[in-house]
Amino acid sequence: MALSPSATFAMSQKAADLKATGLDVISLSVGEPDFNTPDHIKEAAKKAIDGNFSFYTAVPGYLSLREAVCRKLKRENGLDFTPAQIVIGNGAKQELCDVILSIVNKGDEVLIPVPAWVSYMEMVKIAEGVPVTIYAGPEQKFKVTAEQIEAAITPKTKALMLCSPSNPTGSVYSSEELASIAAMLAKYPDIIVLSDEIYEHITYVGKTVSIASFPELKDRVVVINGVSKAYAMTGWRIGYCAAPLHIAKAVGKLHGQYTSNCSSIAQKAAEAAYDGPQDCVEDMRKAFERRRDLIVGLAKEIPGFNVTVPDGAFYIFPEVSALFGKKAGEKVIANADDLAMYLLEEALVASVSGAAFGAPCCIRFSYATSDEKLVEAMGRVRRAVEKLK
Ligand code: PMP
Ligand code: GLU
Repeated sequence: MALSPSATFAMSQKAADLKATGLDVISLSVGEPDFNTPDHIKEAAKKAIDGNFSFYTAVPGYLSLREAVCRKLKRENGLDFTPAQIVIGNGAKQELCDVILSIVNKGDEVLIPVPAWVSYMEMVKIAEGVPVTIYAGPEQKFKVTAEQIEAAITPKTKALMLCSPSNPTGSVYSSEELASIAAMLAKYPDIIVLSDEIYEHITYVGKTVSIASFPELKDRVVVINGVSKAYAMTGWRIGYCAAPLHIAKAVGKLHGQYTSNCSSIAQKAAEAAYDGPQDCVEDMRKAFERRRDLIVGLAKEIPGFNVTVPDGAFYIFPEVSALFGKKAGEKVIANADDLAMYLLEEALVASVSGAAFGAPCCIRFSYATSDEKLVEAMGRVRRAVEKLK
C-alpha cells in the first residue's frame, strides 16, 4: 500500500530542522493551540500520578471518563450515548482510523468532501477502502451540498466523512445545510456518517450543530472528538468515538489487540477537562477569533491571495492560483507545493500546500500563534510574493 506521510507533520519537521540551523523560521504549518493546558487539568494529572492511577485501565478507557464524555455529549450537543458506546483512544486521530478500520472492507468506498484534512484519505487506504473525494471550492465556501454527495453515492458507498468546523478551510456547516444532507441520507440507510467535531468549540458563528442530532440518522453517526483543540491538550493524546454499539465494540476489540488503553494519567486529565470549569474554552476561542480577524486582514493585502473568511477552526486557506506561473529568479512557481517551499525558503514562513488536502490551488496557514508572529509572518509572505515576477 502506498501511504503518504502526513504533510502537516512533514512541513512542521522541515520548519523545525531549519530553525535548528539558527534560522528565524515562523511555523504556521502544523495546527495546534499555542496555549498551555489549563492549570486545573494539569493538577488533575498530578493528582492521578500521586493517587497511583498507574495500572492498565479498561480497554475502552476508564468508565468515569466515558461517563464524563456522555455527560458532555448530553450537555453540549443534546446527544444520548451510554458509556458502552464510547471508546477513548490516542487522540481523535486514532479513533477516526479505528472506526474506519472497523467498518471499511476492501474496496468499500468512503465519501470525503474536499478540501479535507490530510489524514482522511490515507486512513481509508490503510483499511484498503477507496477514498471518493467530492470537491467544493471557495465559491461555495468549501462546503459540499446534499446533491453533490448524492451524485457520488454508489452501491459500494460505506461511509461519509464530515468535518465541521473544517480543517483546512474553517468552514462551518449550518443547521440547515446539515438537515439537507441528513434528509438526503435518509434514502440510503446503510451509509454510516463519521462526524469529526474536533474543532466544535472554535467557531465564530455561534454554536455548531452535530449531524448526529438529526433523527433520520439515528444509530448510524459516529461522533469523533477529543481534548486536543478545545483544551489545548494536543500532546496528551486523548480522543474518543461515540458510536452505535456494534461499532464501539469493534473498535474496542481493535484496541484490545493493538493499543490496550491509552495513558491512564492523560485519561484522568481529560476527565477534569470535561467535568471542570469551561471558561478556558471560551477564553481560547476569543483569542482565536481576534487572530482570525488579524490574519484575514493581513492576508487580503497579499497580491494573488483570494481569501475566504473562515467561520471556525484556526486556519486560513487562500486560493493562490493567480501566482502559478510566476517566477522567483529562474524558478517557476508552478503549484501550491512550489509556493509553500518558496515561502519557507524566501520568507522563512512554514505553511502547508493545499495539495495534501485535495485542493492544489490553495495553501494553508495556521493562525494558532501570537499576534506578533502573525503580523511578522504575513509581512514576510507579502514581501516574498511581491518579489515574484
Ligand atoms: N481531525 C482533524 C480535522 C484534525 O485537524 C485533527 C488534528 N490534527 C484531528 C482530527 C486529530 O486530533 P487529535 O488526534 O490530536 O485528537
Ligand atoms: N490538526 C493539525 C494539523 O492539521 C495537527 C497535525 C495533524 O495531525 O495532521 O495541522
